[in-house]
Amino acid sequence: MAHADLVALGWTADRDSEFAAIAEADVVPGRVSLEHNHVYRVLTGEGERLAETAGRIKYLASGRNELPAVGDWVAVRLDQQGGRSVIRAILPRRSVFSRRAAGRETIEQVLAANVDTVLIVFGLDKPVNTRAIERYLIVARRSGAAPVIVLNKADLAEDVGESVAEATVVAGDVPVHAVSTRGAPGVSRLVPFLALGRTVALLGPSGAGKSSIVNVLVEREALPTGEVREWDARGRHTSVHRQIVVREAGGLIIDTPGLRELQLWDAGESFGDTFSDIASLGDACRFRDCRHDREPGCAVKAAVDAGTLDAGRYESYLKLQREQAAFEKNRDERAAIESKRKARLGSKAIKAFQKQRGR
Ligand code: GDP
Ligand code: ZN
Repeated sequence: MAHADLVALGWTADRDSEFAAIAEADVVPGRVSLEHNHVYRVLTGEGERLAETAGRIKYLASGRNELPAVGDWVAVRLDQQGGRSVIRAILPRRSVFSRRAAGRETIEQVLAANVDTVLIVFGLDKPVNTRAIERYLIVARRSGAAPVIVLNKADLAEDVGESVAEATVVAGDVPVHAVSTRGAPGVSRLVPFLALGRTVALLGPSGAGKSSIVNVLVEREALPTGEVREWDARGRHTSVHRQIVVREAGGLIIDTPGLRELQLWDAGESFGDTFSDIASLGDACRFRDCRHDREPGCAVKAAVDAGTLDAGRYESYLKLQREQAAFEKNRDERAAIESKRKARLGSKAIKAFQKQRGR
C-alpha cells in the first residue's frame, strides 16, 4: 500500500490498517484537494479525479463537519468510464481545523483536515495586531496542528526586530518568523515545514500575502494573488477556493483564502494555552471559578491595575471568553432542540407501528 505517490501526498504507514478496515471492494485511497458545490477533486495514486460523496455518507452525517473536507483521506471508488468517482468513506482525521461558519446559526465549518503545521500569516504593512494573533492562535492550537506565526512583507516594516518582539510576547512558545516574498529575509525559512508528505496550511487575514507565499514556495504561479484574484482580466469577479497545492520538491500546502472572519469554534483547552499567563495569575484569585470579570479578590484584575498585565490583553481575554460562553450556550440549546426532534420522530414511529399492529 505504501505507494511512493501516496507518501508524497501525506500517506503514512498507520493509515494502512485504517484503510483495510473499510473493507470495500474496488476502493483506493485518495486525498481531497478541493471542494466546490459538493464536487471534490481527489488526488490518488492513479492521478487526479472528480468525485461525489456516497449517499450513505450524506445520510449518516449529522452535520457539515462529517462530510469530506480539503485535506481528508478518503476511500474512493474510481469510475473507469471517465465519470464521477465516489467517496465511500472518510479516514479518521489527525487534525481538524474548524471555525464557526459565518451566519447566525452555530454550525461547524471544517476549513482543513490532516494538517501538520499551521502558518498564521500577517502582513507587516500594518501594525502587529496582537489581538488577532491571539484569536488565530486559539483556533490553530485547537486544530491539533503545530502553529507558527509568520510576519510577511518584512520589506515594508520599519523595524522588523521590534515587530517580531511584539508578536513573540503573545506567541509564547510558538515560533515567530519574519519573511518577505519580495526580498530578504525570504520565505526559504519556511521550507523545513515542507518535508516529503508534510502538510502545511496558511491562515490569516486576506491581503497578508498567503497566496504569494505559496507561489514562491512551489516555484510557480499556482494561485492568483491580490487584485488579480478578486477580478479576472475581463473584470469578472473570480471565486477562490481552499485547495491543496502539491509542492514538487516535497510537502503540500493548503491555502485558505477569503476568510473575512474567524469566529471561534469550541476553543476548549487551547483557550487556556493561549492565555497561560492569565491562567497562572488566576491561581491566586479568591474564587476558584473566578472568570476574572467582576469577581472580588481577582488576582488578574489586580495585575492589570498594578501594570504587570497588559490591559489590552486582558480585554481581549474577556472578549474571547464571552464569545466562547455564547458559543457553548448556543450549542447546548441546539443539542436540546435536536434531542426533542429525535424524541418526536421516535414517538411518531411508535404510533405508526401501533396503528399498523392494531389493523
Ligand atoms: P492573501 O490574500 O493573503 O493570499 O494575499 P496575496 O498573496 O494575494 O497578497 C496580497 C498583496 O500583497 C498582493 O498585492 C501581493 O503582491 C502583496 N505582497 C505579498 N507578499 C508581499 C511581500 O512580502 N512584500 C510586499 N511588499 N508585498 C507583498
Ligand atoms: Zn480572577
